[in-house]
Amino acid sequence: MTERPNTLTAATVVRTARPTPHLIRLVLGGGELTGLPVGAYTDHYVKFVFPPAGVTYPHPVDMATIRREFPAEQWPRLRAYTVRAWDAAAGELTVDVVHHGDEGLAGPWAAALRPGDPVLFRSEERRVGKECSERCRSRWSPYH
Ligand SMILES: Cc1cc2nc3c(=O)[nH]c(=O)nc-3n(C[C@H](O)[C@H](O)[C@H](O)COP(=O)(O)OP(=O)(O)OC[C@H]3O[C@@H](n4cnc5c(N)ncnc54)[C@H](O)[C@@H]3O)c2cc1C
Repeated sequence: MTERPNTLTAATVVRTARPTPHLIRLVLGGGELTGLPVGAYTDHYVKFVFPPAGVTYPHPVDMATIRREFPAEQWPRLRAYTVRAWDAAAGELTVDVVHHGDEGLAGPWAAALRPGDPVLFRSEERRVGKECSERCRSRWSPYH
């Protein structure tokens, strides 16, 4: 199967919050989020990209290029997170990461993030969820 090109998006952490003790809310921003194709479907998710230690990828780059040009041991690990909110006007993307404890990849990573930290992700258009109506889009926020 041919992987569709999907350039990785470089973002920065705008703020974090702990709505509950085991939930880490990440709000991401940055110029590359402008026009992010989020909001058409209710189950949009992103995949955070975790390169192995010491490995950096050129930017912009997509996963197909990484898999073609880097040896397998330098491919990143990925973790999927459902878009909790997308504020197109502010260019802010919100995801909620469950913190399962000190083990694992994404949980401890999310717990350590601070405003200004860089984040790399791939935006996914899953398109198996319900198509988002105008009303749904206008309500796509966890804060009301
Ligand atoms: C389409 C999709 C959307 C997703 N959306 C979200 C989301 O919005 N928020 C979110 O938090 N996760 C979401 N996930 C799950 C997420 O991708 C990770 O699998 C999860 O966060 C665990 O990653 P980790 O690196 O912290 O743990 P890992 O390194 O994978 O595992 C380390 C340890 O964490 C613990 N652990 C991991 N997963 C669970 C679990 N489900 N229950 C209990 N203990 C667990 C176990 O002890 C495990 O040994 C989604 C997955 C998919 C496929």
